[in-house]
Amino acid sequence: MIQRMQGIGMTSLRTRERMIKRLADQGITHNKVLEVMRDTPRHIFVDEALASRAYEDVALPIGYNQTISQPYIVARMTELLLKSTHHHLKKVLEIGTGCGYQTAVLAQLVDHVYSMERILPLQRKAKNYLWDLRLKNISFMYADGGAGWADYAPFDGILVSAAPADIPPAFLQQLAIGGVLVLPVGMAGRQSLQRITRISEDNYDIEQFDAVTFVPFLSGKE
Ligand code: SAH
Repeated sequence: MIQRMQGIGMTSLRTRERMIKRLADQGITHNKVLEVMRDTPRHIFVDEALASRAYEDVALPIGYNQTISQPYIVARMTELLLKSTHHHLKKVLEIGTGCGYQTAVLAQLVDHVYSMERILPLQRKAKNYLWDLRLKNISFMYADGGAGWADYAPFDGILVSAAPADIPPAFLQQLAIGGVLVLPVGMAGRQSLQRITRISEDNYDIEQFDAVTFVPFLSGKE
């Protein structure tokens, strides 16, 4: 793995710096998000054959019909999650670990990440990559994330990286007051990024952002 981390050589940091510049040009303003993405080797999360494309602003296949989200989307969702609260986020629930890149970014910005995935081999890969990066403030669960993770609720933030047609009620219930849920919502081809803030026990504020294309949120396990 050490070899793999150096695999694309001395250009990797420079390539990441170019990616950061592009993200800033695209409107990402949260400095800590940009810093963490500059310091996180994205190429180790994709197959070696795709490593040279890891810093382009595209989604790439990670197997099992899934994709690693494009850097802009990772930055945007992370920024939306962090920006709305003035205080530091302690517990964050992530649905859709995938290859673990978004998990790695989150783990460097919040106290603890609880990450759920329904495809076991993907979860295994992600665990290995995150271990190689020595990120240890992460708990994993192999399950359909639709029920959330009640044992550790409430969460200060919930980030979902697959698109449900409607928001699963468990996510709203497991949000702390003042907490934020960031997710793509809608049917294929017409999804939008939304941020839901729990204002009080029964009141939620909904904001709508970019039109996006995500893989569908599926039920059950594989
Ligand atoms: N952030 C990930 C995105 C992977 S794609 C990355 O950058 O790699 C979305 C992921 O959500 C897939 O791994 C898919 O298996 C997972 N997923 C879809 N529906 C899910 C559900 N109900 N529960 C848990 N994970 C789910």
